Amino acid sequence: MVKITCDVCDKVRPQKGSRAEDAWILGYDIEVENANALQRSLRFLSRWDDARLLELGAIHLCSEKCKDQYIKDARAAA
Ligand SMILES: [Zn+2]
Repeated sequence: MVKITCDVCDKVRPQKGSRAEDAWILGYDIEVENANALQRSLRFLSRWDDARLLELGAIHLCSEKCKDQYIKDARAAA
């Protein structure tokens, strides 16, 4: 069993079947290299997908609030 934590607040994702897991958001944070710049691409899936959560660049967020925070931080770092 893989332990998943929120990439913003470090909260641990609850076990399967618990109601609290519904709010979690799965996304991707991928860097794409162009001719002269590194571009960061953020994508969020419409629903959680256990089969994809360990894919390259996957990000795990426990709530809409952490998702907003993540986007803010990503913009600040760009
Ligand atoms: Zn969080």
